[in-house]
Amino acid sequence: MAPFFIFDLDNTLYPPEVPLWRAVDDRIELFVREKLGVDGAEARSIRKDYLGEYGTTLRGLMQHHNVAPGEYLEFVHDVPIPDLVPPRADLGDMLAALPGRSVVFTNGSESYAQRVLQALGVEDAFVAIYGIEFMEYIAKPFPFAYAKLLRESGVTGAESLFCEDRHENLLPALDLGMFTVWVGGREGDSQAHAVVEDVCDLPSVLPAFLGKERFAQGR
Ligand SMILES: [Mg+2]
Repeated sequence: MAPFFIFDLDNTLYPPEVPLWRAVDDRIELFVREKLGVDGAEARSIRKDYLGEYGTTLRGLMQHHNVAPGEYLEFVHDVPIPDLVPPRADLGDMLAALPGRSVVFTNGSESYAQRVLQALGVEDAFVAIYGIEFMEYIAKPFPFAYAKLLRESGVTGAESLFCEDRHENLLPALDLGMFTVWVGGREGDSQAHAVVEDVCDLPSVLPAFLGKERFAQGR
């Protein structure tokens, strides 16, 4: 069994101070306003409903307004990524030192993830990107994509570590037996196995994952 590392993208591989996710969020609101002909307050209310019911604004728009996912994803990810996201040499070093394969697991589109990884300078650190297309638009935290990712990668939950900034997205991973790391989370009210302030602090919690009985055989 080999350790397998799964990383969320937005606000995980870069810190929330980087204004990229806010820029995408603004584009999502603009898309809803233009597509449905509503004002900002109404658009935010609709998005809140869709997020609660479907996990993403996109899936709500697909269900209720027949929106084509390609059109939506192209519009909302049309942001100046290289202007917003500085390269992170420390992240590249940390990822390169991990003792196993790494993948990205994001509710964003795969081409968007690719562009963000390029801006961060870490695109070579990952063997695959599993985005919203792979998820068949059934986003985290629905369990479907987590199980599909494990099948596709040929690994078990027990071999996997998952880094993510949204606590609710860690819960299905816990159910599948993954070692869960809450990035930027709060120590006190977490069900995750570990909490780190920044993803670059991951090595500090690795012994708890790698030292598990699950990796004891054959080492
Ligand atoms: Mg995130």
